[in-house]
Amino acid sequence: MDRFSQGLPDPQATPNEPIDECANDSCQKDIFEGDKVWNYDGDLYCSGKCLAQALGAVEMTIEKGEK
Ligand SMILES: [Zn+2]
Repeated sequence: MDRFSQGLPDPQATPNEPIDECANDSCQKDIFEGDKVWNYDGDLYCSGKCLAQALGAVEMTIEKGEK
């Protein structure tokens, strides 16, 4: 039972605070130290998809017969 003597780590005391959040307003995912992010013009995005959305790109599927 020794391994429990120190108790569980306090989630409030975690050093792993988010340093920023995704600059995509519809995402705003927390960004932590060590995360891979996309930096565009000083704004951080959690993924290339978020960056593309923020720039106005829209993901879509090409329907048959379209191009
Ligand atoms: Zn995001």
